[in-house]
This record gives sequence, C-alpha cells and structure tokens, in this order.
Amino acid sequence: MTQAKVCFIGAGNMTRSIISGLVTHGYPSDLIHATNPSKGKLDALQQDFAIEVSHDNHAAAKAAEVIVLSVKPQLMASVCEDLSSLDLADKLIITIAAGIPASRYPVYFNQPIKLIRTMPNTPTQIGYGMTGIYADDSISAEHKAICETLMQSGGKVVWVDKEAELDQVIALAGSSPAYFYLFIESMIASGVNMGMAEDKARLLAEQAALGAAQMVIQNQQLSVTELRQNVMSKGGTTARAVETLQQGGLVELVDQAMTNCVARAQEMA
Ligand code: NAP
Repeated sequence: MTQAKVCFIGAGNMTRSIISGLVTHGYPSDLIHATNPSKGKLDALQQDFAIEVSHDNHAAAKAAEVIVLSVKPQLMASVCEDLSSLDLADKLIITIAAGIPASRYPVYFNQPIKLIRTMPNTPTQIGYGMTGIYADDSISAEHKAICETLMQSGGKVVWVDKEAELDQVIALAGSSPAYFYLFIESMIASGVNMGMAEDKARLLAEQAALGAAQMVIQNQQLSVTELRQNVMSKGGTTARAVETLQQGGLVELVDQAMTNCVARAQEMA
C-alpha cells in the first residue's frame, strides 16, 4: 500500500467513509488528519479511528503530503483561496468535489498544483463504492498510486483518460445508486399493492437486487443479456414481465436519463 501523510479538508460524509475504509485496511491512523469547522464530526472521527483532527486547515495542509479537498463545491473556491499562501509545489491535491473542472483549482490556489480529480459514490460508505479518477500527464506514477490507495479504501476505482469522461462516471456510478433505489422502491410498492407486507416485499426485492448484482459480477464470462435470457423461458412469467418493461420503453428511458445526467453535469461545470 502506498502511504503518505494525508489531510482531509472537510470532515463530512465522504471523508468519514474514506477514512473508515483506510483505517479498516490498515492505513496508519497517525498519517491521517481531518479538519472541519464544527467539533462534533471531528470528535467522532478521533474517537472511532484515532486520527489527528483540528479546525486549522492551514496548519493541517502545510504538514501534509497529500491534501484531499472534501468540502461542498460551493465552498471550494473560498477554502482553496484560504490555502493559497502555502507553497503547494511538492504536495498532491485530490479533489472529490462534483462539477468543478481541474483547470479551476490552480486559479483558486493562485499557483500551479499537482491535482487529481475523483468522483466517488455513496456506497463508498460501506466499502462498495465506485470511484472514477482523472489525472493529466503531469502527475507521477507515485502520486497516482497514493490516490488509488486512498480511493480504493471505499471500493473499486476506474481511471478515465479524459476529464470529460468523469461526467459519464457520474451517470454510470455517481448518480446511478438512485436509479436502482427507484427500481427497488417501485418493486416494493407493487408488492404492497398486490397485498404483501412491506417488510417482506423489501426483503424479497433487496435480496433479488443483491443476487442479480453478484450474478453479474461472478459470471464475467457471460454477457448481462445472457444472464437475463437465462431467467426468461419463452412464454413464462419473467418473459411477460421483461417484455412489459421493454414495451413500456425502459431501455430508451434509461438512455435518456443518463444522457440528461451528463448534460446536467456539463451545465454545472
Ligand atoms: P458533507 O457531509 O456536507 O461534508 C462537507 C464538510 O465540509 C462538512 O463537514 C462541513 O462542516 C465541512 N466544511 C465546511 N466548510 C469548511 C471549511 N471552511 N473548512 C473545512 N471544512 C469545511 O458533504 P459530503 O457529502 O461529504 O461531500 C463532500 C464532497 O464530496 C463534496 O464536494 C461533494 O460534491 C463530493 N461528493 C460527494 C458524494 C456523496 O455521495 N456524498 C459523491 C461524490 C462526490 P460543517 O458541516 O461543520 O459545516
């Protein structure tokens, strides 16, 4: 594991998820520092993971080899400007903020920087995250390895060749847990409509979703289409349900939803 002294600026949900994964995977607590304006989240992080915490972004960033920017996008400019008096030449800066292009950070910091942009998703909280990562050619292999170690703590990572592909990562992984939640919600609602108790409907739907995901993961030699067809016998119950979804335009709707998702990410940049 490639290790460095890392400081998280902002100790909210994503920081907690990443730190939890890091410590669980054996990353030394004394190499991790988190900052936040309010005390409660810092106390909890210190208690749960024995990391260093403080309210002082400046001192924490100065002492770190790697700075992870983990504040909401609307606060990013002021947080970076506040750190711009530091000499950042030898530091790696990783941002997890949605929507802010890499080109904007050197402007905020008022100096050239080494920046890696990442796009994690919320299942990172439980170790099943998916993070897209983009770095330009100026970033060293060592810095890339450090970033991979940090982001892999919450799940899997994929490198994208062009920054614009991060918008596709948002459509495929960042936003997509919500598509699956909607599908599971709709299945539960239908089960309840048919007279089943909600807790039982939820158990059936959630376990089916987990099983389907595991079938896809554990059967890489089969296409997803083959897996679906294996469940569908001609004229059977599954065929009737799947044909209903297809005739109702599900495939086109998913395509439209993801295209709109990418368009929204581009508007927000
Ligand atoms: P969050 O829970 O709101 O965490 C942000 C933290 O930043 C809060 O604890 C906030 O503290 C702190 N903060 C505010 N001003 C600060 C300052 N000047 N210095 C240091 N810390 C400051 O948000 P999040 O969900 O973790 O998201 C963090 C970043 O991850 C965002 O840029 C978001 O776009 C990105 N992201 C999130 C997700 C996701 O699914 N959650 C996915 C991909 C990317 P207080 O609460 O005390 O004000």
